[in-house]
Amino acid sequence: MKIEKMRRKGQGSLYNSFMRMTLLPLIALGVVIILYSTIAFSKGMQSQVQQDLQDVGAAALIAYDVAYPGDYDVLVKDEDKMALTKGGKVISGEYHIMDRFKEDTGVDISIFFYDVRMLTTIMDENANRYIGTAAHLLISKKMWNEPEACFYDNVEVGNQDYYAYYGPILNQKGECIGMIATATPAGEVKSMIYGTVIRNIIIALIALVITALIMIKFSTQTVMVIKRIMELLREMDRENLATEIDPVVLKRDDELGDIGRFTMHVQNSLRKVIERDPLTGLYNRRAGSKKIDAAREKAEKNEKPYTIAMGDIDFFKKVNDTYGHEAGDIVLKTVASILTEGMTGRGFVIRWGGEEFLFVFERKDTPTAAVILEDILHRIRETVVEYNDQEIRFTMSFGVAVCDVKGLVGEQINEADEKLYYAKEHGRNQVVMQIPGEEI
Ligand code: GH3
Ligand code: MG
Ligand code: MG
Repeated sequence: MKIEKMRRKGQGSLYNSFMRMTLLPLIALGVVIILYSTIAFSKGMQSQVQQDLQDVGAAALIAYDVAYPGDYDVLVKDEDKMALTKGGKVISGEYHIMDRFKEDTGVDISIFFYDVRMLTTIMDENANRYIGTAAHLLISKKMWNEPEACFYDNVEVGNQDYYAYYGPILNQKGECIGMIATATPAGEVKSMIYGTVIRNIIIALIALVITALIMIKFSTQTVMVIKRIMELLREMDRENLATEIDPVVLKRDDELGDIGRFTMHVQNSLRKVIERDPLTGLYNRRAGSKKIDAAREKAEKNEKPYTIAMGDIDFFKKVNDTYGHEAGDIVLKTVASILTEGMTGRGFVIRWGGEEFLFVFERKDTPTAAVILEDILHRIRETVVEYNDQEIRFTMSFGVAVCDVKGLVGEQINEADEKLYYAKEHGRNQVVMQIPGEEI
């Protein structure tokens, strides 16, 4: 059954789920952080500017009080000419104090007598100071109603917008008789705020992109490992148990690595069940046939000899008849282990039938294979199986084929079978490599 088909339609892939689960909350979090920090920073900056303007205003008033002790007043020279006085001294035209403040802080200062701007550092393009002008009606109205510090973020003086602070000037009786205003161009404050905000947004976006990339990499790797395990399971489903798992999966030290290792163990167990004979542990005929073909192809490719032989236990029926089927099984197992040991590093053995075995010798020609089988036969002759206080001895017969690496495996098996038959017909308990009268 196709695994993908088991997934309901429209349910999407694991990768998409990972992306939804990680990227969407990340983007939402990013937007909230950027919005919150932008608003908080702008407010913070504005109150900082406000505080600075207020401090400069207060310091300027103190400086004027120290230089010219006494109350502010005006001296009317003629109808439209007034001079500002402080403590009786005319201070109109005395700009050294406020110009110095402007030089040090960059903040423009104006002193109003009531609502008339009497002293200021603000100048037009011809370097004429904006004096004699009235404060905005709303500002002065608010100040006379309730003399206290006020902050405005859009006061226009000349053609320039200002962030401005207005503080009351009180006389010795505590009456409000004017205002001090400190101002800084709104454009400068705004561009400073926007510059920093944009820089913060860029930093947040970079952090967001890096986090997203890490998450994408993690998701891609995780999904890739799951896909590799799935591919292995799919091959197992197609009865292909030879596929090896991607080493990337096995290298992982986590649960996914465990699933990979577990799948590999399941594959090995399945292979054992499917490929091996349960009694002897040898390859069964089905798996063995595939292995013979593969061995012949390998020999052909490497231009090395290979040899097929057939072996059969002599008079095995008698073992069963004399000692019982269980004893026969024990003999079969004993024979299998002797054969396996004798073939180690030389090729492999297949349980071809009941008490019949097929041998494949890799990189060995027929005479070499025959010598190895003689050696195995020698060990079998010397083996005694003890069963119910009885000693069971047995022998085997072998037929060894002459195999051309380009030949047909079926014909080679037949040849080994014929030689085995000859061995059986001519006394058993022997290895037959050549039938007399026939050429090798
Ligand atoms: P030969 O020397 O001509 O090969 O004589 P044989 O008795 O060995 O040959 P035959 O084919 O007559 O008998 C083979 C016996 O092997 C018959 C069968 O019951 C027995 N046999 C096959 N498979 C098993 C098995 O798994 N366990 C046991 N105990 N006996 C088995
Ligand atoms: Mg037999
Ligand atoms: Mg037989």
